[in-house]
Amino acid sequence: TKMQIAIDGPASAGKSTVAKLVAKEMNYIYCDTGAMYRVATWYALKNNVALDDNQALEEMLKDVQLEFVPAEPVQKVFVNGEEVTDAIRMPDVTNNVSLVAAQPSVRKAMTQRQREIADAGGIVMDGRDIGSVVLPNAQVKVFMEATVHERALRRYRENQAKGIETPLAVLEEEIAARDYKDSTRKEAPLICAEDAIKLDTTSLNIEQVVAEIKKIIKK
Ligand code: C5P
Repeated sequence: TKMQIAIDGPASAGKSTVAKLVAKEMNYIYCDTGAMYRVATWYALKNNVALDDNQALEEMLKDVQLEFVPAEPVQKVFVNGEEVTDAIRMPDVTNNVSLVAAQPSVRKAMTQRQREIADAGGIVMDGRDIGSVVLPNAQVKVFMEATVHERALRRYRENQAKGIETPLAVLEEEIAARDYKDSTRKEAPLICAEDAIKLDTTSLNIEQVVAEIKKIIKK
């Protein structure tokens, strides 16, 4: 029978890389919920919608048609037919997404959409509140952690490969700031669900993390 696999954790913990690999191996759908909040943020910035205006964001989202297309190395994201795969990873989106994601109307709309996606069959979903709020009955719940330093280092190396030069200290600050905002918001804060299994990935590589998750799945 097909399962729901929830993978939560703080920013840059490697959730999406690992979740995608697990989904591929199991022939499940992969859903990156962070991308959904990023799309809302990108669209709000583009259309000058105040990022803390709960009501205006609710209205705005009625006009947002979101589409994910599986692709390598990353899935493609489209908004009303326009590709935004790279745009939603830009610093202005990354630095504002926590504010938008804290608005109750945005969370409600995204959570509903995520549950619809999960209803389609076997799913690996990654985010901040999947095990705690979106899919509380998921058969497998993993909470991936790593030190801020290690996560910043991973982001630093990724950036280098793309030719982006952001100092490590700046990345550390950005990651810590986003973790703080995501963990202290009122609505569905970043927490490890009571029944989730904590996985410290600080000294593990991607294959090792995937292997650990497969062990958890088999249990
Ligand atoms: O996973 P990613 O870093 O792309 O997520 C971007 C942001 O989206 C997070 O920092 C958080 O504010 C928000 N988010 C959320 N709930 C989720 C997934 C992401 O609030 N399930």
